[in-house]
Amino acid sequence: MFEMIYIEAECMDHPVALQIQDRFPKASKIPCQRYGEIFNRKAQNFRLQKQSPSLILAKKQGSFLLPTPPSYSIGGSHNFYFSHMLNCIFDCRYCFLQGHLRSAHYVFFVNFSEVEKEIEKKLLEIPDEPLYFFSGYDCDSLALESITHFLDSSLPFFQKEPRAVLEVRTKSTYIASLLKTSPIPNCIIAFSLSPHEIQQSLEHKTPSLQNRLQAIKALQERGWKIGLRFDPVIYCDSFEEVYCKFFAEVFSSVSLSTLHSITLGAFRLPRETYKNMLRLYPEEKLFCHSLKDRQGLITYQDDKAYYLLEHCKQQIARYAPQIPLFTYEENP
Ligand code: SF4
Repeated sequence: MFEMIYIEAECMDHPVALQIQDRFPKASKIPCQRYGEIFNRKAQNFRLQKQSPSLILAKKQGSFLLPTPPSYSIGGSHNFYFSHMLNCIFDCRYCFLQGHLRSAHYVFFVNFSEVEKEIEKKLLEIPDEPLYFFSGYDCDSLALESITHFLDSSLPFFQKEPRAVLEVRTKSTYIASLLKTSPIPNCIIAFSLSPHEIQQSLEHKTPSLQNRLQAIKALQERGWKIGLRFDPVIYCDSFEEVYCKFFAEVFSSVSLSTLHSITLGAFRLPRETYKNMLRLYPEEKLFCHSLKDRQGLITYQDDKAYYLLEHCKQQIARYAPQIPLFTYEENP
């Protein structure tokens, strides 16, 4: 899978780094001082690199935890996100990582378990209330689990910290580590879902809608709490028809009984990220559809955004009126 693995000198002997190197005996191992030497180099072509990315094993310096934008919540008042890696094996055309990061190589932070100490500290700072931790801001949380074992190693921690709620955001159907584990009440497996037509045209290399729904079903049968993330909602030809069919398919498959929450948001990108993405894909229809700059956020014109979200809200209310629904319009 990887022809080259770059390894920071500092984590050369880290047990996680050694374990991953063993997985790829044929890959060339190249030492480096800091991952930024490879990852942040100027004049890299994200599009070309995405065709054959390398793996970089690095040590995260500074804090893993960052506060989420103020309006981002699935019901809690204290929300943080973190990533155990940067970049993703999937290739969604709307993914902000393409415009946000300089490189398409995968960076994996071998010291990711240090986030547990940071979470313990936050739990002490903010007593008595639940704290929400969103994994997968700069990656897909599950897609490379077979290599990183991020969940394998993190779930026992959350099991003993019931006040720390973990959201695992994914489009992946790699659910083996979850199926072999007893469900943890404070862990939500949140699947990003889009209509078949959008998945086919914009979510390259991702599992089909049908396969994601099957994964959800298997996890629900095992007892895991599920989140449904309809974000970004994307305008397309026959929008009403496409999204009506989509919601009917989703809710005929997903059981409401272990459904934790639903989130909804129209396509939106920070201005600079959008500009970088337009440079990469100037021919992409998605980036030219009557968009506007709303205080630094590029998104649909107000009336269109309102219409798309209202249409989706009505459909969701038809099928899942009792499930908490959160709509995001401001935060990227
Ligand atoms: S799955 Fe998520 S992180 Fe991966 S390319 Fe798609 S939008 Fe980006």
